[in-house]
Amino acid sequence: MLSVVVPIYNEEENITAFHAAVSAVLDTTGESWEIVYVNDGSRDSSLSLLLDIQRRDPRVAVVEFSRNFGHQPALTAGLQTARGDAIMLMDGDFQDPPDVLPRLVEAWKGGAKVVIAERTSRAEKGIRSHLFPMFYKVMGLISDFPIPLNAGIFGLLDRQAAKAMISLQEGNRYLPGLRAWVGFPTAFVYYERADRAAGEPKQTLLKLFKYAMDAIFSFSYKPLRLGMVLGGLVLALALSLALIAGGSALFHFTTVETAFGSNHIGTLLTVLFLGGIQLVCTGLLGEYIGRIYDEVRHRPLFLIHKVYRAKTVAEPALRFANDKALAAVEDSVA
Ligand code: UDP
Ligand code: MG
Repeated sequence: MLSVVVPIYNEEENITAFHAAVSAVLDTTGESWEIVYVNDGSRDSSLSLLLDIQRRDPRVAVVEFSRNFGHQPALTAGLQTARGDAIMLMDGDFQDPPDVLPRLVEAWKGGAKVVIAERTSRAEKGIRSHLFPMFYKVMGLISDFPIPLNAGIFGLLDRQAAKAMISLQEGNRYLPGLRAWVGFPTAFVYYERADRAAGEPKQTLLKLFKYAMDAIFSFSYKPLRLGMVLGGLVLALALSLALIAGGSALFHFTTVETAFGSNHIGTLLTVLFLGGIQLVCTGLLGEYIGRIYDEVRHRPLFLIHKVYRAKTVAEPALRFANDKALAAVEDSVA
C-alpha cells in the first residue's frame, strides 16, 4: 500500500482540488493507497472539509492536532500514522505537483528506499524567491554532513526508512537533513516546483527562519568553531600590534604613544570590536544551549486531539520514539 502524508494549516482554498488531484493520480498507480492529512490547528474550515472527505472515503485518515505545532511536527505525526509500505510526504498547496508521485513510486519499485524529489526550478514570488536559494547556499557551505540541496520534504520513504526517521528522537527536526542522515539506497526524481495554487504561504518568514536555524544548528558545529577562529584572529592581531609597539619603543624609533596615536578612538574601536565578537559568540552558544534545553525537557513534538480513520484498518502504525502523546489518544480513534 502507498501512503501520502499531507500537513494542512489553513488550506481551505486548496483542499478540495488538492484531494481530487492526488486521488486521481494515486488511482493511476494501480496500487491500494491512503492519504493521511494532518490538520495542524487550522483556524479556517480546513478541518471540516477534511472530515467531509474522510467520511466519504475510507482511504483517508485525518490526524487533528490540539493546536498549531508546525510543518515538521505535522509531517512526523503523519509518518507515524501512515501504514503504507511506501510513504510519500508532500505539501498541500500544489507546490509539490501530484503528477510527480507515480515517478516516486517507480523509483521505489526500482529498489530505492528513499526517493528525494529535487527541484530544478522554483516559482516562489517576492522575498522568498531570494531567501530560499540563500538558505540552501549557506547550508551547503556550513553543513558537517552532505544534505542534498534543492530538496525539501517532498519525496518517498520506504517503511524501513520511515521507521528509522521516526526512531530519531530529536525534537528540533529538520526532516530533509534527517532523511539524508538515515541513508539507505537513495534515488532522485527531478521536478519543477510550482508556486502555491491559492492563498498566502502559511509558514511565516519567522517560522522559516527558525526552521533554517534548526537546519543549521542540528547539522553543523561550524558556528561554534567560528568563536575560536575569531578569537584566534583577534589574538594574532593583538600580538602583532604589541610586537610593533614594543619593538619601536625598544629601538627608539618612536614612543608607544605615537605608534598608536594618543587619541582614544583606537581604544574605543578595540573595545567595541571585542565586545561585538564576544556577543556574537555568546549568541551562537545560546542557540545551541536553547536546543539542548529543548531536548532535555523531552516534551512531545505535538499533541493529537483525535485521529479519524476507518475502523477496518487494523495494521499498527509506526510509533515515534519521543511520543508519549499518541498512546493517550489511541482510544479516541473515530
Ligand atoms: N503547514 C503546516 N503548519 C504550519 C505551516 C504550514 O502544516 O504551521 C502546511 C501548509 O498547509 C502546507 C505546507 O505545510 O501544506 C507548507 O506550507 P507553506 O506552503 O506555507 O510553506 P512554504 O511553501 O513557504 O515552505
Ligand atoms: Mg508552500
